[in-house]
Amino acid sequence: SLNKHAIVVGAGPCGLSAAIELERIGISCTIIERGNIVDAIYRYPTHQTFFSSASLLEIGDIPFICKDLKPRRQDALVYYREVVSRTGLDVHPFETVEAVERTEDGFVVRSRHDRDGSKERQADYVILATGYYGRPRRLDVPGEELPHVAHYFKEAHPFYRQRVTVIGGKNSAVDAAIELEKAGAHVTVLYRGDGYSPSVKPWVLPTFDSLVRHDKVRLELEAEIVRIEPHHVVYRQHGEEHRLETDHVLAMTGYLPDHGLFADAGVQVDEETGVPAFDESTYETNVDGLFIAGVVAAGNDANKIFIENGRFHGQAIAETLRERNGVTL
Ligand code: FAD
Ligand code: NAP
Repeated sequence: SLNKHAIVVGAGPCGLSAAIELERIGISCTIIERGNIVDAIYRYPTHQTFFSSASLLEIGDIPFICKDLKPRRQDALVYYREVVSRTGLDVHPFETVEAVERTEDGFVVRSRHDRDGSKERQADYVILATGYYGRPRRLDVPGEELPHVAHYFKEAHPFYRQRVTVIGGKNSAVDAAIELEKAGAHVTVLYRGDGYSPSVKPWVLPTFDSLVRHDKVRLELEAEIVRIEPHHVVYRQHGEEHRLETDHVLAMTGYLPDHGLFADAGVQVDEETGVPAFDESTYETNVDGLFIAGVVAAGNDANKIFIENGRFHGQAIAETLRERNGVTL
């Protein structure tokens, strides 16, 4: 062992992967997680199928065996639990990191456990792998706080025979619209784009397109949301305002990283792109010894980094720390 210690904030696939890689070069890791491991995947729609094949979601060289080419949410939950069990990673669940402070010779990490209250730990290195799924991208229109407006979609059943307005036009919006229609909801998709988004997975688009062409899902393009009322969504299209009757609104407008921890720790974050200042080969931020891993490195553009590529950030960090500490393998 190197007698060095790291704290990894966030037990998503990329944080777990980083911890495994650091432990391999002799740096012991404590992982602090707000929920339990892979909380973002746990919070996906219940019946979500991954767009990645199982092998592209593997971490720590542990095989992800799945009978289908593309795993489902439940398969991934089983897989990542197994990874943590096998590697014996030290995960502290239900504990939220509130501050990371650089000291002369390392870091102090302050967190709050659900029931046990505040905790304080020391570390030589910190890896921020906090993802983005905890914070929906808001529409910032009046009425967004109303109880029939949601930013997460779990299952279609409660929407049976209900009028549902889906806002957005990428994968979450299209997936939700398809599942809702199947469950007997009356679905309207309001999208600000002027056509299908190129981000929509190519094998999903034909299903959605067919529903639209057969009037099973109504799609309104170039539709800008003006406000939400208890029984209507008001949107503007080609200069005209429309008042659409609706029972539920699903704002599938994506998610944004929470940069609170970054700013407090002294990491510079580009205001426009949301990208933290970091070295692309080492993943070290402008604060010495403070690294980032996973989708946080993409800033506000969630479609650039995902598990498939973010899972390798830990290897780059481990390589850097291996060299810095003169470890020969
Ligand atoms: P996350 O998985 O978001 O993990 C971050 C963790 O940090 C969370 O568990 C969170 O609770 C924790 N955390 C945050 N703040 C704190 C704090 N202050 N203190 C303690 N813990 C904290 N990607 C693919 O590669 N393939 C796919 O097929 C795919 N399908 C997807 C389907 C859906 C519906 C969605 C929404 C996303 C999909 N993605 C897919 C994207 C993928 O989920 C993310 O890229 C991935 O979760 C990022 O991993 P991460 O470890 O960087 O962050
Ligand atoms: P996203 O890719 O960020 O898309 C958000 C959508 O909402 C976009 O269509 C965007 O419009 C629209 N939007 C954003 N802000 C808006 C505003 N203020 N007003 C109106 N519309 C607004 O989010 P997502 O679809 O939830 O996807 C998030 C991540 O999860 C992605 O990485 C995605 O790949 C992944 N995902 C994967 C799957 C799958 O595996 N099958 C399924 C769902 C999600 P523009 O198009 O104009 O930007």
